[in-house]
Amino acid sequence: MFALFKPKHNCYCAFCKTPRNIYRKKNIGVMNILASAMAAVVIMFAIWQEYDPRVMIAFVVCLAISEIFVQIRWRLSVVCRACGFDPIMYVKDPQAAAEKVKVQLDRRKEDPKYLLAKPLNLPAIAPKKAEALQTKGKGKLVSRSI
Ligand SMILES: [Zn+2]
Repeated sequence: MFALFKPKHNCYCAFCKTPRNIYRKKNIGVMNILASAMAAVVIMFAIWQEYDPRVMIAFVVCLAISEIFVQIRWRLSVVCRACGFDPIMYVKDPQAAAEKVKVQLDRRKEDPKYLLAKPLNLPAIAPKKAEALQTKGKGKLVSRSI
């Protein structure tokens, strides 16, 4: 039922333009808090078999775990699976992000699984412009073509 409302993809990779799906949720919501409260109550009865004030500690721990889980899930979903482009890393450290994309593209080149796959729609740079960019020394080109 829920699958009907879930879009197949909600954005495109900024680098290779592959359609992808990013979790919009960065932090826990009401549902996660309710689930944590339920889990805490279950844990309470499992350990002490009765009401115990320590249930609050269990609740906070459950909240922390779900918050970490949601954040990690969001962080991982942001990275492109096709080319390895990581927009958040790119904002902080473009060089490191470029290095990561390079590693991923090299891996893709060697992996026979991708031999017949549709080639990535990487941004193309005209040879003249590539030369100009490199002579200016403003950065290295990750990949001309794949
Ligand atoms: Zn990509």
